[in-house]
Amino acid sequence: MIQNPIPWPNGARCACAITFDMDADSLIHIARPEDSHDRLYPISMGRYGPTVAMPRILDTYRRVGIKQSFFMPGWCLETYPDVVEAVLKDGHEIGHHGWIHEDPIVTKGGAQKEAFEKALDTHDRIAGGKPRGYRAPVYNVTQQVIDLLIEHEFRYDSSLMADDIPYRMQTDKGSLYEMPVHWGTDDWPPFAHYDEIGYLMPVRGPSAGLEGFWEEFDAQYEAGGFFMLIVHPFLTGRLARWRQVEAWLEKTLAAKDVWFARLEDIADHLDKVSAEGTYLRTETLPYFTDPQK
Ligand SMILES: [Zn+2]
Repeated sequence: MIQNPIPWPNGARCACAITFDMDADSLIHIARPEDSHDRLYPISMGRYGPTVAMPRILDTYRRVGIKQSFFMPGWCLETYPDVVEAVLKDGHEIGHHGWIHEDPIVTKGGAQKEAFEKALDTHDRIAGGKPRGYRAPVYNVTQQVIDLLIEHEFRYDSSLMADDIPYRMQTDKGSLYEMPVHWGTDDWPPFAHYDEIGYLMPVRGPSAGLEGFWEEFDAQYEAGGFFMLIVHPFLTGRLARWRQVEAWLEKTLAAKDVWFARLEDIADHLDKVSAEGTYLRTETLPYFTDPQK
């Protein structure tokens, strides 16, 4: 089913990552900058992520013994430094996710470069180093961002959708890996209900909202692929939902040959298998340089 499967470490059948985008209340501040400070409901909905859900998620990971990847806007590192410290203390990875969740399609040119580099400085100061991975707010990577990632020696992006499994993206300036996302493994469609930023989704019950994720896992497992969730602490870290994710995690770790890893470890593994001659599919960028008519 998968044309070019990647051999995973120790004969694991499937590489797995639960990636959390800890956007917290950055979403309301970027959407409604003129009065977000006095919109207490969306602030509180976002704050639930770092303050309530993150300790719960970290506790589960500690108990089952896995290290995972988190993406955070620089503004969230500034605002919630204790969470950053807790995440790093447990050996997890924190990737770049913009400054205050600005959309690269909207914030472009000099403003994008400035926001991108401001977030990089914040990672350096608060997380103690350069991030190795990036996920674009709302997945909206542009060619400018790809160029910035290569310029700043990022190892991978995780915002694009051109394959089921990781692949290489090559430009004339260099290359990086893509850890591909898709909407079927994202918790925004089943759980986001956020009028202020234009989402009014009917919220699904925990089992109904999560069941699609487990079907995606079953297909990737059968094909020897790559299963990644793109989820948010303030959505999937809610009590009834996380209880089900935790139960799935325990069951899967006990019964299946899976490799749960940080995306930076998967990037290291891709270096190794490609040096050994395993074929990684390559997408050559930019796709286009002019409007297509
Ligand atoms: Zn986000």
